[in-house]
Amino acid sequence: MELVEVDVAIVGAGGAGLRAAIALVEKDPTLRIALISKVYPMRSHTCAAEGGAAGVVKPDDSFDLHFDDTVGGGDWLSDQDCVEYFVHEAPKELMQLEHWGCPWNREADGSVAVRPFGGMKKQRTWFAADKSGFHILHTLFQTTLQFPTITRFDEYYALDLLVEDGRCQGLTAMEMRSGMIKQFHAKSVIIAGGGAGRMFPFSTNGAIKTGDGMAMAYRAGVPLKDMEFVQYHPTGLPNTGSLLTEACRGEGGVLLNKNGRRYLQDYGMGPETPLGKPQLKTMELGPRDRVSQAYWHELQKGNTVTTPWGECVMLDMRHLGEKYIDERLPLVRELGIAYLGVDIVKDAIPIRPVVHYMMGGISTNTKAATPLPGLFAAGECACVSLNGANRLGSNSLVELLVFGKSAALSAIEHIKGLPAPNRAALEVKAKESQARVRELFSRTDGNESMSGLRKEMMDTMEKNAGLYREENGLREAVAKIAELRQRYQKVMLHDKSNVFNTDLFQVLELGSMLDCAEALTVSALARKESRGAHQRLDYVQRDDQNFLRHSMAYYQGLDAPRIDYLDVVITKSPPGVRDYSGDHK
Ligand SMILES: Cc1cc2nc3c(=O)[nH]c(=O)nc-3n(C[C@H](O)[C@H](O)[C@H](O)COP(=O)(O)OP(=O)(O)OC[C@H]3O[C@@H](n4cnc5c(N)ncnc54)[C@H](O)[C@@H]3O)c2cc1C
Repeated sequence: MELVEVDVAIVGAGGAGLRAAIALVEKDPTLRIALISKVYPMRSHTCAAEGGAAGVVKPDDSFDLHFDDTVGGGDWLSDQDCVEYFVHEAPKELMQLEHWGCPWNREADGSVAVRPFGGMKKQRTWFAADKSGFHILHTLFQTTLQFPTITRFDEYYALDLLVEDGRCQGLTAMEMRSGMIKQFHAKSVIIAGGGAGRMFPFSTNGAIKTGDGMAMAYRAGVPLKDMEFVQYHPTGLPNTGSLLTEACRGEGGVLLNKNGRRYLQDYGMGPETPLGKPQLKTMELGPRDRVSQAYWHELQKGNTVTTPWGECVMLDMRHLGEKYIDERLPLVRELGIAYLGVDIVKDAIPIRPVVHYMMGGISTNTKAATPLPGLFAAGECACVSLNGANRLGSNSLVELLVFGKSAALSAIEHIKGLPAPNRAALEVKAKESQARVRELFSRTDGNESMSGLRKEMMDTMEKNAGLYREENGLREAVAKIAELRQRYQKVMLHDKSNVFNTDLFQVLELGSMLDCAEALTVSALARKESRGAHQRLDYVQRDDQNFLRHSMAYYQGLDAPRIDYLDVVITKSPPGVRDYSGDHK
């Protein structure tokens, strides 16, 4: 089997993976780095991010305030040592991007412009119109191009980690255009594989967000942390699920029910504020979990608007005016016209909550290290835990930078003084991984289809593990996902060719999603409380006595995962009441 030998292998070339790669070379230009991605780097989901990235920059803001917003927004499930580190590093990272060429919007005096964002009680979200992710990813990608020691493996599908002697020492990956599996021996591996929102049928996530990185680590014995916390974004287009960024509300857009009422005032997010730009009080700038949940209550009350695409509420931005919209929200206008035929300058646009982000993921500490020596993780695939039970909009893009860099520095630290790899032992492991794929090709008795199983999984997740959950539904979901994982053993490949076999990759991705879905549903069933994005109709209160702790799901093959718990790190903010009725200044 072909061998690629490097010092550090990175799985994923989105924001987190690219930031890690740059930090590696900057620290040690002699390192050999493999950057492995199943898509061309600029096609990573980071490119789709719209609204912006949070970091304290204005004189009336402070690290303490960013800390308070993040910890309260996360319903006190964030590890506070991690949040403290994050808020201090955030502006440095954003300024670093500026120096690498990121075209942040400017105030009239030339300083960096910031916009309000949900749950952030000060304006601190840096932005590049509503194409922030595109510009961030481009800046990072361009920067990596100057370093010859970063070798890119674009369109390589990572399969399995190589764990030997109690350490992670590499991985296997398939070159997608040839079907050839290669072994990568690496002293450190960083997973930056992104989220897993595609477990759900209605999602803002790109098709590649199938939790492969999470599943790889999970199968290798690393726990998945807080998987039950799934973020719904309140404003998705009702037909495609495409995101209308939170900046729509940050810039002053309002949410209306079928009676034209700004209903958020009925859910602890009032009082109603005058229309203006930018929006300066809470209301539409409540955190995502609360705003999405308010939609659900409006639906129960019969206050939603019936549209050809289902029940919706309306997002109204007309009062912002064409000039302002074209300057600040050009992509949103384009999306509305292209996908729904609605011009936001002239009409309110129907929207509904849509699965957007996974708060949970590979368990890491503040240094981005997993419990498995040699394995590090950063970005949406990791749970460090910054976001707790609910991520605040615009914290994720910065999380990629801060912890992408941490992962790199930790990976270098790990390498020091390591013995030479046992190539023969690693090759044995690599062959086991290869055999797993070969078995799929040689299967003749399979009677299950990838698309059939995937549909059943998505329907189950939507029905039983969505915005609101309860015991019976979760039990049904746990049983169904277990059944689907059994049936997955009989899934048939229709295409047995080697060249860009998309059938194969979709089967592998389905396997990753089923593993993640099982960790998610089993963790959700066990968490008998409501906190942040995990809302249970049968346990409506937050229960700090029993659940101020992280869920840790451990892989057990085809059996259900073992769930354990880990205490939340509290440094200075004891659990309190989340209050979104005050002023934003
Ligand atoms: C539409 C949208 C808008 C958003 N807007 C914002 C925003 O304004 N502000 C904000 O803070 N956050 C935003 N987010 C969230 C944020 O963009 C993401 O959480 C973040 O970009 C994830 O970055 P990442 O580097 O972890 O992963 P990604 O950018 O998703 O990259 C994952 C990488 O892993 C690779 N990969 C995955 N599996 C494999 C495999 N098996 N083999 C090889 N490679 C693999 C992929 O090829 C890809 O390169 C938004 C998200 C979406 C979906």
